[in-house]
Amino acid sequence: MSQPLKIHYFDNNATTRIAPEVADAMIPFLREFWGNPSSAYGFGAQVNRHVENAREKVAALIHADPKEITFTSCGTESNNSAIHSALLTTGKNHVITTAVEHSANINFGEHLKKQGYDVTFLPVEGDGSLDLHRLEQAIRPDTAIVSVMYANNETGVIFPIEEVAAICRSRGVLCHTDAVQVPGKLPIDVKQLGVDFLSLSAHKLHAPKGIGMLYVKRRTRYQPYVIGGHQERGRRGGTEGVPNIVAFGRAAELAMSTLEDENTRVRGLRDRLENHVLRQIPNTIRNGAKKPRLPNTTNIAFDFVEAEAVLLLLDQIGICASSGSACTTGSLDPSHVLSAMGISPMRARGSIRFSLGIYNTEEDVDYLIQHLPPIIQKLRDISPLNPDHPDNDQYDIVGARSKHEQEMALGKDTH
Ligand SMILES: *Cc1c(COP(=O)(O)O)cnc(C)c1O
Repeated sequence: MSQPLKIHYFDNNATTRIAPEVADAMIPFLREFWGNPSSAYGFGAQVNRHVENAREKVAALIHADPKEITFTSCGTESNNSAIHSALLTTGKNHVITTAVEHSANINFGEHLKKQGYDVTFLPVEGDGSLDLHRLEQAIRPDTAIVSVMYANNETGVIFPIEEVAAICRSRGVLCHTDAVQVPGKLPIDVKQLGVDFLSLSAHKLHAPKGIGMLYVKRRTRYQPYVIGGHQERGRRGGTEGVPNIVAFGRAAELAMSTLEDENTRVRGLRDRLENHVLRQIPNTIRNGAKKPRLPNTTNIAFDFVEAEAVLLLLDQIGICASSGSACTTGSLDPSHVLSAMGISPMRARGSIRFSLGIYNTEEDVDYLIQHLPPIIQKLRDISPLNPDHPDNDQYDIVGARSKHEQEMALGKDTH
């Protein structure tokens, strides 16, 4: 907490900085307007008007009707809720999703399997794209729902949701998309997409953590996942998180106005970073298709290094990036997304995701591309994975010297 180090943040797919405008919008609901929006007296009803106002703004972001928006606690809850509802309302027992979903879906799918449901995790191609033919073949008479993410959080690869939804419609199967990575980066129009359910999470669009929403298309049958009071028109029990809901509304408004910046300036920063790394650092390769891809994300494999070691050294100089998703950090398994793309475990373990956002500057990218090459070089010099590496009994000595050099390179006082 007391670190004076300036943060250079390249992990916007994990979470985003709260926009100052969003924080400002929340304050009155933390300090003065703390009434319960379900209370009948004016002090509550007044708060309720702001909840409904936020609902209109979130609806506008995805071209939905406010009645189609249910606030939840997070993107994970929204995803779980959509699938849960589809299973209950259809009485069917088969779910189709993909092998590259966020752990919100992967682990919920595994959980459902243990409960006796049947879950198909569709494979992807080497570039992370989806073969729609395989989707068509996977749909069965007992399929309740198809849940396919709109854009991948690790590679940025975008799936053709409009086509996925059309296939589902033609087969009479419900369709959900996890669009958590999309707002502010691509326009979202649920009518054009034709999905029945869509999930968002506010902390990926410059609002606080702990608030998400599920779009449920008009006339789609729905069974709540969180059961309790009659909040959210009976679709989600629990007293509304008013400050967070208000924040989500403000962030939704802002996301529409930052689309342009994400797709021009931020995309330019991402491309500069990616091109520089791929050209200047040997034995690097981009994971996933170049397009269609989110404008802010690049995932790069650095052969002969462990991503965790790179991230540690980057962390020491104030650079935040990640390997895989935040939800899998700490596990030694390579990313399930990269594995599903057929990338070898060794290459996957040397892969790093850089995800940019509207608060990134040219200076951030300059700083990163200045510091990254020597870090990779130092780690490769001591890496037993490196085919050029000297034999094993020299390893300790070389390793020790390199560690010293590393610290010198990082500007650390090594006495
Ligand atoms: C972050 C993320 C989620 C989870 O959202 P939470 O609000 O953190 O639960 C789900 N899907 C994707 C694609 C994400 O990036």
